[in-house]
Amino acid sequence: MSTQSENVFQAIISHAKEYGFVFPSSEIYDGLSAVYDYGPYGSELKKNIRDYWWKSMTQMHENIVGIDAAIFMHPTTWKASGHVDNFSDPMIDNKDSKKRYRVDHLIEAHAEKLAHEGKKEEEFALLKTMDELLAKEDFAGLKQLLDDNKIVCSVSGTSNWTEIRQFNLMFDTQLGSVAEDANTIYLRPETAQGIFVNFLNVQKTARMKIPFGIAQTGKAFRNEIVARQFIFRMREFEQMEMQFFVRPGTESFWYKYWKEARLQWHLSLGISLDKYRYHDHVKLAHYAKEACDIEFEFPFGFKEVEGIHSRSDFDLTQHQLYSKKKMQYFDNDIDEATGKAYGNYIPYVVETSVGLDRMFLLILSNSYEEETITKEDGSTDSRVVLHIPTKIAPNKLAILPLTKKDGLPELARELMDECKPYFKCFFEEKDAIGKRYRRQDAIGTPFCVTIDHQSLEDKTVTIRYRDSMLQERIAMDKVKDLVLSEIL
Ligand code: ATP
Repeated sequence: MSTQSENVFQAIISHAKEYGFVFPSSEIYDGLSAVYDYGPYGSELKKNIRDYWWKSMTQMHENIVGIDAAIFMHPTTWKASGHVDNFSDPMIDNKDSKKRYRVDHLIEAHAEKLAHEGKKEEEFALLKTMDELLAKEDFAGLKQLLDDNKIVCSVSGTSNWTEIRQFNLMFDTQLGSVAEDANTIYLRPETAQGIFVNFLNVQKTARMKIPFGIAQTGKAFRNEIVARQFIFRMREFEQMEMQFFVRPGTESFWYKYWKEARLQWHLSLGISLDKYRYHDHVKLAHYAKEACDIEFEFPFGFKEVEGIHSRSDFDLTQHQLYSKKKMQYFDNDIDEATGKAYGNYIPYVVETSVGLDRMFLLILSNSYEEETITKEDGSTDSRVVLHIPTKIAPNKLAILPLTKKDGLPELARELMDECKPYFKCFFEEKDAIGKRYRRQDAIGTPFCVTIDHQSLEDKTVTIRYRDSMLQERIAMDKVKDLVLSEIL
């Protein structure tokens, strides 16, 4: 990361803390590595992102329904899904610094260095070789790749590496009292399995016909070894996942459909296309047919925010095998080729999986601006503003009586009472108006309304727009509809 990007990133982290978006977990005890708490504005923003996703999936698609499955699941779930045996990352330790790294991260960081030096071809070749070796789980080859590229530990500066080995990322705990017949269970490392095991419950009770989807948001836990970059990689995080069940043979069509639809969802928040790119996977999980990441340009470079995976019938087949319960769907549509109903089959699945916390960081990174303002007299001023998309901003409207007296707060309260059932409003009567505007800019409030003495006479108010800082006088009874028209 360049020094400038590093500075921007650090400024975003400080801003998030100072303005009540994100705090280190249990900070009074010096925090817990890679675990964070969301503050008053952070929890609003996070909820709004979740709601926006939920609405776009379940309300805007008649063939997608939601569930809310438990975090704990029967331990066999994770045997069937392959997580007990395969959910691990190749790790390596530096013997001098005792620092532990994920091997793919070490190589990716080196590739990024090559890219900065303009060695694009070498960068691509390195990443391609890495993907191939990872796919074959060829650890000796990966170690050789580290040596060939003279990749060293950033702390010790040496290449005195241990062997590469796998490290399982699932947290486990005990169900029931330990004295009794204790049973190891896991904190779910993804929300998807709660959807697969409920596939028939949902299909039958909601009377869904293929193709259809099941959406879920919720916590997931991974014992990430290299947990850094703030809320980008956490040990406790939240996912927003949707599994779309399709007729075998149509999965490629639906994979393309969701790959495009999910990018459009990101763009619908007004984020520019050049901040995004797709990364098609070369290394595919053994069951996957196609997979890609949607990457966003964070201050520390392009990184995954969402995965789109065509998972074949792997998960349902595995659960059928382990549970001995049929996971089939009966399709009574007529196959034109044979003239008969498609009949019984295990559906194929295309999944979309986006991290809520990563999406939150994306919004913060994209919104944060340290702006220099040139005034009419030529002098300059500055402000920090979060250009959070209006639809998901923590507060939509700040209502600010100019002074605390002369009946201005009372009139302002009337507007507050009118608007607050519809969207989140904020009321403040302390401090100079300029200072109050700056505070609202810093938490991303798109509209501020000031009530002054003229408001008492003609029931007009001054509305100020966060991004342009333009102000105009409008009738007080138009405020609610103006804000509503921007958030739907
Ligand atoms: P990565 O390669 O970054 O570890 P992944 O490919 O393992 O991610 P998936 O298993 O596809 O991630 O999970 C889907 C989404 O969940 C990711 O795109 C990301 O947004 C989010 N996610 C995964 N791991 C974490 C984490 N440790 N902290 C925060 N979000 C995460």
